[in-house]
Amino acid sequence: MYPPYPPDLNAAQKEYLLSNLKDWSIAHGLAVRPAPSYVQDDAGALATSAPVTLFPSLFPKVCFEQARSVARAYNELYSAIASDEGWLRGIVEELVEIDDFMASLWKVYLAVKEEGYAQSLALGLFRSDYMVHVDQSNTAKASVKQVEFNTIASSFGGLSSQVSGLHQHLLAIDAYPDELSSLINTSSLPESSSVPSLAKGIAKAHEAYGSSAEGLPTCVLFLVQDPERNVFDQRHLEYALNKTHGVRTFRLLFDRVLQDTKVDKNRKLIYTPPHTPSKHYEVTVVYLRAGYAPSDYTDQSHWDARLQIERSAAIKCPTVLTQLAGTKKVQQVLATPHSPHLARFLPDQQQAAAVLETFAPIYPLDKSEAGNEARRLATDPASATRYVLKPQREGGGNNIYRKAIPGFLKDLPESHWPAYILMEMIEPPAQSNTIFRNGEVQSGGVICELGIYGACLWDTGADGKRDILENFEAGYLLRTKGDQSEEGGVAAGFGAVDSPCLV
Ligand code: ADP
Ligand code: MG
Ligand code: MG
Repeated sequence: MYPPYPPDLNAAQKEYLLSNLKDWSIAHGLAVRPAPSYVQDDAGALATSAPVTLFPSLFPKVCFEQARSVARAYNELYSAIASDEGWLRGIVEELVEIDDFMASLWKVYLAVKEEGYAQSLALGLFRSDYMVHVDQSNTAKASVKQVEFNTIASSFGGLSSQVSGLHQHLLAIDAYPDELSSLINTSSLPESSSVPSLAKGIAKAHEAYGSSAEGLPTCVLFLVQDPERNVFDQRHLEYALNKTHGVRTFRLLFDRVLQDTKVDKNRKLIYTPPHTPSKHYEVTVVYLRAGYAPSDYTDQSHWDARLQIERSAAIKCPTVLTQLAGTKKVQQVLATPHSPHLARFLPDQQQAAAVLETFAPIYPLDKSEAGNEARRLATDPASATRYVLKPQREGGGNNIYRKAIPGFLKDLPESHWPAYILMEMIEPPAQSNTIFRNGEVQSGGVICELGIYGACLWDTGADGKRDILENFEAGYLLRTKGDQSEEGGVAAGFGAVDSPCLV
């Protein structure tokens, strides 16, 4: 039996833990810019601690190891999908009529294809997200099931290393009561290598690009949104690139691509920083932390900017095809029961079986056999409560949950239903924790979501034969939300960053 978790702290213990947590967070950049509603007109100088859990959440060790063990297979799988234009075309064609965003991305791909791609290397910094699932027929058996797979702007790797550091620090300074020592101890708190590992992924791509034929200095561009509250998450990766790898990095607003970059006659992407207009850099890698949502493309100039990057010789993280490979539709096609598609991309049977184990059932809402069954489940109020309905979107806040599904579909023209996928809700076992967010402490039931990062650099190859140059696991992220909230995004305002206490 475990001691009650998390424990009740007396006032002095609570004050000691919280004051240390607040200072350590700011001192180590476990921080975000404050929401505009929180402070007004601060001249961009203020930071506040990122939402965090006071205690590391209990997480089954077998599940943690299971999720890590498939990281490289997932890299392999998604690099294969992103390299198979013909197969992706089939997926996209089903959706172009009803999903403008996917149609526009596909147009960018086609335009560059017609001209010929100037870069055959592609970089993926992926994150595969899971929840713990307990087998109802054998409640002793816990495994992870995949929530989703992210191929663009997989965030929080920068902060994850810090939060595991925070919980280790709180342990080291005796902020956790002694009676928890059988649970929280140095061997039950795994470090997250996400900062060094993701930075290494970018550095490997930067190296593979090589030096500038024109003799220009080279750089990596972080393509970012404005405003970006989660800037420190990104900065941690930049600082690791600068310090460990000696790579020059710049942040470029998605809005500024057409002003500050150009593609030269050899298709090299040349960046001219506004603060040193006489200095030009050849861009080796463009790392997108923007451009994943329709709201990033407010007018045609943003699509022109995306095309400019895609047609350049810079290595894209991700390419348009890699972004499309990460859509929920692709996840559904792989995970629909009895799907034959996994074997196509993962010929290694052991790897395929391990990946298959992590799939939760997902259905299309089209006129196929599985689709008809899904349409029945989704429109019946009794069964809909076991499902979540998802559009082809990223960044949180887009899904329709449980009892809201039938009404939502009723208001949606049936021709648009196939733009969504229907997924079984994963129901992790009940547990509790305490979250510190916006200066407030809240305790209660929580749900944890584990993300495993993966870095993959591959050459799509002129002859269609893919060659993987780098493939490694790149640390983890644990996010925790109150169990009354369906959504889990930290940036979207729902969850907190956490680290696992392996049990
Ligand atoms: P996004 O790309 O917007 O992050 P997700 O598929 O991750 O979309 O869904 C957002 C959130 O919804 C997740 O973080 C999780 O909390 C919840 N969620 C999504 N799918 C499931 C599921 N099958 N079971 C339980 N919760 C889910
Ligand atoms: Mg996502
Ligand atoms: Mg998600």
